Amino acid sequence: MARRFEGGKLVIASHNPGKVREIGELLGPHGAEVISAGELNLPEPVEDGDTFIANALIKARAAAAASGLPALADDSGLAVTALEGRPGIHSARWAGPNNDFDIAMKKIEAALADKSDRSARFVCVLALCWPDGQCETFEGTVNGTMVWPPRGDQGFGYDPVFVPKGHSLTFAEMKPKAKQTMSHRADAFAKLVAACFRD
Ligand code: IMP
Repeated sequence: MARRFEGGKLVIASHNPGKVREIGELLGPHGAEVISAGELNLPEPVEDGDTFIANALIKARAAAAASGLPALADDSGLAVTALEGRPGIHSARWAGPNNDFDIAMKKIEAALADKSDRSARFVCVLALCWPDGQCETFEGTVNGTMVWPPRGDQGFGYDPVFVPKGHSLTFAEMKPKAKQTMSHRADAFAKLVAACFRD
């Protein structure tokens, strides 16, 4: 049985206000009063794990230890099958210092030029840690196919080149609400809420 969140303050181990707001909307109805690591001026730990789980745990453990409160962190990315799971944990880094995803998408296109397998998956790992060091982790995924040229202007990151399995639109062509019903993040949050937040 997973350890349950008993209500009250929950630190979101992110300095991204958009992410913190979204998580607050998702977990507020379950008794979580979210505060960001940024608001608490918590230092950002070095994410030097070599898996999504390791990096999510590094962030959640550090925020829980520094704040004395339960903390939630996520780590996510795109894993392309024919590239042995790359860009994976380096998904953000492939876009370079200017966060340019046109460059990142072109890199994947070039790396796949002589490959016939276009399958990929988005992965999202959530780690919920307590100040005593105990943690629970949840992994969400969505399978799909890489397509070129990029299509759509919704979403972010690699959304314009990813068509989820069973659909014909890219994530960037879908309304955000539609993406939210099937995304790796939605899958991970459903598992977290079912295990740690529901009565
Ligand atoms: P982070 O988990 O916020 O560090 O995000 C890691 C990176 O993975 C992002 O910068 C994007 O490149 C990629 N990524 C994660 N989730 C998505 C998604 O839903 N759509 C497109 N790209 C994503």
